[in-house]
Amino acid sequence: MTIPFLDVGAAYRELKPEIDKAVARVMDSGWYIQGPEVEAFEDDFAKFCNVTHAIGVGNGLDALVLSLRALGIGAGDEVIVPSNTYIATWLAVSQVGATIVPVEPEIALHTISAESCMKVMTSKTRAIIPVHLYGQPADLNPLLQLARENGIFIIEDAAQAHGAGYRSEVIGGFGDLTCWSFYPGKNLGALGDGGAVTTRNPDLAKRVRLLSNYGSEKKYMHEVAGTNSRLDPVQAAVLRVKLRHLAGWNERRRTIARRYLEGLQGLDLVLPEVPQWADPVWHLFVVRSKERDALATRLTAKGVQSLIHYPLPPHLQGAYAALSYSEGDFPVAEQLAKEVLSLPMGPHLTEQQASQVIDALRRAT
Ligand SMILES: *Cc1c(COP(=O)(O)O)cnc(C)c1O
Repeated sequence: MTIPFLDVGAAYRELKPEIDKAVARVMDSGWYIQGPEVEAFEDDFAKFCNVTHAIGVGNGLDALVLSLRALGIGAGDEVIVPSNTYIATWLAVSQVGATIVPVEPEIALHTISAESCMKVMTSKTRAIIPVHLYGQPADLNPLLQLARENGIFIIEDAAQAHGAGYRSEVIGGFGDLTCWSFYPGKNLGALGDGGAVTTRNPDLAKRVRLLSNYGSEKKYMHEVAGTNSRLDPVQAAVLRVKLRHLAGWNERRRTIARRYLEGLQGLDLVLPEVPQWADPVWHLFVVRSKERDALATRLTAKGVQSLIHYPLPPHLQGAYAALSYSEGDFPVAEQLAKEVLSLPMGPHLTEQQASQVIDALRRAT
């Protein structure tokens, strides 16, 4: 009996009648692009994030690209990104033609700090993109202060952190723009691709919406050279249903995480550290081990699936060969890539399964 890393179909099975009804409603409505379902989800999601604006877009990568474009960031500008993120954060910066300036994360937290950003800032720095990796917010206040003092922007990559809290407030409106992915495996996942940008700034909201819809507010009038990246109404309808369950699902993830944190004490593993400012939503539960690969193999043999997020940092990917980075350039990201292991985690993992994972790890370490 294998314990899956994530049962991505479980949410649909739990809510099948509601979701099927929502999908049928879109099919029957005749609105297949934009329209009332997308607007309703945008309202719901903005409320959930305690902000004034949410703009549905095609996916999480586009959310980042559109945010950079909305701020007018492009060639000649520098953007600070974590060295240990999913490659999308980097790709967004290269897509707009700006220069990627990587900084190492705090190793225990997997997120970047204002101190390390300060060290790489130049007169060309226009923005910092902190990533709330694994569902745990970066320390935002010092980053926001640094940005304010230097007239630069904060774009949050919240693709893994729907519903996470920073100093008792839900994330979504701390930075100038916050970017979301609704990729199926995320805490709030669609049945396909989807994304959003949230903000409290009406001008930026307008700008993102314009750029995402062919640069057009009025049909066949194009103020700017935009793109086509819109949230699909079918996905919006599905997301509206799922959003009502997100808080409960995140609570179930917290229960599993508490169980792991207790049950894995005293093993030869580095457990996730939660700073006092953070209320993580445990998109992933990531442990570290010097013998990560052997450990993963032993877990598989015991019927426990695990995954690695991520096995190769962006600077060593073929995609960035042209930047001529080499091994040793970002030692923290490289060490993390060798040591991290993500345990089964999700709202549909039972507490009994979590106990089995703990058991397997106790026998495998
Ligand atoms: C998933 C993810 C993205 C990209 O989202 P897509 O919807 O797959 O384009 C961006 N950043 C991070 C940190 C992610 O985990």
